[in-house]
Amino acid sequence: MAKARTFFVVTIDGPAGAGKTTIAKNLAQRLGFCMLDSGALYRALALALLRAGVRPEDQFIRDGLLESTRISVEPDIGGMRIMLEGEDVSSHIRSEEVGNAASRFSAKPEVRRALLDIQRGVAEKCDIVAEGRDMGAVVFPFAQAKFFLTADAEERAKRRYSELTKKGQKPFYAQVLSDMMARDRRDESRDLAPMIPADDATIIDTTTLTPRDVTERILERIGFII
Ligand code: C5P
Repeated sequence: MAKARTFFVVTIDGPAGAGKTTIAKNLAQRLGFCMLDSGALYRALALALLRAGVRPEDQFIRDGLLESTRISVEPDIGGMRIMLEGEDVSSHIRSEEVGNAASRFSAKPEVRRALLDIQRGVAEKCDIVAEGRDMGAVVFPFAQAKFFLTADAEERAKRRYSELTKKGQKPFYAQVLSDMMARDRRDESRDLAPMIPADDATIIDTTTLTPRDVTERILERIGFII
């Protein structure tokens, strides 16, 4: 029997604003790989739960709701589209409200479990660059190349602030910084799959680096592995 092909998996983990999405997109384009933005899955599931009337502070999610929620990802030029019940929700999920809800729902074990197979399924179809919080440590422990991006909280908040401003929003910098720090605390302190670098991840501090610098550094490192 023919042996199934093993696809190459690059994982990029780290806190919000460390540059994961930009770097993962650049890498996916340069390497010709698919991209998995796992945060988008958590956001889509949070949107589904909010629409169903579930609040992040609720202790239980009613039986069958997670199992019956249909979320899928479709590769798109330079990234991916995310579908919820057949609807393209790629832009809907980008609001602060959905992001904060995703951060709170993602601490629930049943929510993390519900998304595990979807994430692993992407790596059964193509070589991927997967970005998130637990890609290297939990979802793809056997990934061939693992990276963890960090940056000072102030720098990450500045990046997020300018992203929101470019989208036409009028955020307060102090609010962006405090939301980001609250989210970091939740991601780092949850019991299941907390945000920590995998033992074999290369850690890169992006505070003073451009996206191009980071991309080149990672490509150089992958070059040694391939
Ligand atoms: O990266 P992004 O901000 O889109 O992710 C939204 C939220 O989903 C994060 O704040 C984090 O709590 C959660 N998340 C997670 N594990 C991942 C990706 C995202 O817990 N692999």
